[in-house]
Amino acid sequence: MRMSKGLFPTLKEAPKEAKIVSHKLMIRAGLMRKLASGIYTYLPLGYRVIRKIENIIREEMNKTGAQEVLLSALSPQELWEESGRWEVYGPELMRIKDRHNRLFGLGPTHEEVITDLVRREVKSYKQLPLTLYQIQTKFRDEIRPRFGMMRAREFHMKDAYSFDKDEKDLGKNYKRMYEAYQNIFDRCGLRYKAVEADTGPIGGDISHEFMVLAKTGEDRIVYCRKCGYAANVNRAEYVKPGVKGQGSRVKEKGLKKVKTPGMKTVEEVTGFLKCKPKELVKTLIYKVDGIPVAILIRGDHGVNERRLEKLLKAKEISLADEKTIEKVTGAPLGYSGPVRLKIKIIADSDVAAMKNMISGANKKDYHLININIDRDFKADKVLDIRSVIPGDRCPKCKTKLTFSRGIEVGHVFKLGTKYSQALKATFSDEKGKERPLIMGCYGIGLDRIMAASIEQNHDGNGIIWPSSIAPYQVLILVVNNQDKKQVKLAEEVYKSLEKEEIEVLLDDRDLRAGAKFKDADLMGIPLRITIGNKTIKENRIEIKIRKTNKIHEINKKDLISKIRSLLEM
Ligand code: ATP
Ligand code: MG
Repeated sequence: MRMSKGLFPTLKEAPKEAKIVSHKLMIRAGLMRKLASGIYTYLPLGYRVIRKIENIIREEMNKTGAQEVLLSALSPQELWEESGRWEVYGPELMRIKDRHNRLFGLGPTHEEVITDLVRREVKSYKQLPLTLYQIQTKFRDEIRPRFGMMRAREFHMKDAYSFDKDEKDLGKNYKRMYEAYQNIFDRCGLRYKAVEADTGPIGGDISHEFMVLAKTGEDRIVYCRKCGYAANVNRAEYVKPGVKGQGSRVKEKGLKKVKTPGMKTVEEVTGFLKCKPKELVKTLIYKVDGIPVAILIRGDHGVNERRLEKLLKAKEISLADEKTIEKVTGAPLGYSGPVRLKIKIIADSDVAAMKNMISGANKKDYHLININIDRDFKADKVLDIRSVIPGDRCPKCKTKLTFSRGIEVGHVFKLGTKYSQALKATFSDEKGKERPLIMGCYGIGLDRIMAASIEQNHDGNGIIWPSSIAPYQVLILVVNNQDKKQVKLAEEVYKSLEKEEIEVLLDDRDLRAGAKFKDADLMGIPLRITIGNKTIKENRIEIKIRKTNKIHEINKKDLISKIRSLLEM
């Protein structure tokens, strides 16, 4: 491609709203432009990267034996009613009305649509196992679209769905997909970790997230350097190094009510009372199988909901709504506390070791200070329910866990029968008995892979693409467009590369050499060939590797083989 003939708009500055490097560089290098909040247009360079990622995914999916389909983005309300998700999905599901006033959802994910297809087409165990996948546009009205394509409202996903006759076969399918994901992320040149994860609104029993390690990641993960255990912080198991309580020597002070007007969050209350978050106790009202329960957790800790659910042997737990909170505490959200609370109280063991704690007074605009367990309230149970914190140890081998931030690029779930039961997708087994299909689902965000790759591969001058997903492999830069000799040689080299089917970009634009060099670094094409005075004089061609800045000077006749060997590095 000749750059003078195409659309390659680069920018010196990134828009103010771009907070992370991938967002900034994707705009500056001319990969995409914003259309509206969380909605972007891909320019030619960006779209080529998406297509590269798409092809890698498609190849690896096909290798597993999965078949590609294309489901519609629009799906009727009735289908979502059958699974119960028309309600549950909430405002993240975009909804539109047709001219007959019928409602449709714009697919954020496709469990319903695929299950509907399969319940119509699959009747017998002989048709199983079956795995279908698609690569398609998804819509989610994210509450906070941000970081460019990292959290967009319209994005591209590969979603696969497996159908099996039993759990054993699902296990095999899950493993096959897990391995395909490893191949995909390896081929995309990402440094990542697969971690145990929560299943969230998609549902199911077991799931793993594939996390690209990056400072800017929105997820927090822990892993063990010794045995490889890895999990999302919100569900990680751990062994406590031993509770560091303040001991019995700390004197219990007198309980006191203090005015905290408008102060609700840990940040607000600690700022106002000039104390530390670890002196505060969050009284969180949960619904445990429908019954309100107070969970006490230290101000600087979070709740491991999965652990809580397991320890309480509950089917379902969730934070209570504001109405319930008012009803059980007598105060609005932000002022709940354990003293004189009429519902069951479960304290985290770190809370049980505290003295003179601060929590809500169950009265609007008031908190209590110097609360002491047993004297001022009784805990019905003391359990280890906080989420993992630095210092905690690996649940498998007791090594100190390592914390990191991650960008979730892929997610695999064992769904079981959640959707097949709701939508009555059954098959007849060997004995002729009707049974619900056992499902798994597997998603990968294409745009997020692209952004995550930039987060991991860039420098102060711009992007450094791994060649597997680079929009072009080689960029030829003509230093002086007015110099006929340079132009002629560049054309010659350009044509020879094209003939060899090496993806090449020729920067023949009428720009200052300095601007072209800057753009070349910004766009991050793995190899740059510079054609200037020196090239003509010495009859040697200069190839610069973007990643290492290393320069190779070679004879024209060796050019193609050198390029090939450099790209395979
Ligand atoms: P998150 O927790 O980041 O919102 P999710 O758990 O909702 O992600 P899934 O439903 O598992 O995501 O979707 C599969 C994949 O789709 C994710 O791993 C991610 O790569 C991608 N993805 C999800 N939401 C977005 C989004 N808003 N913008 C871009 N990619 C997304
Ligand atoms: Mg999400």
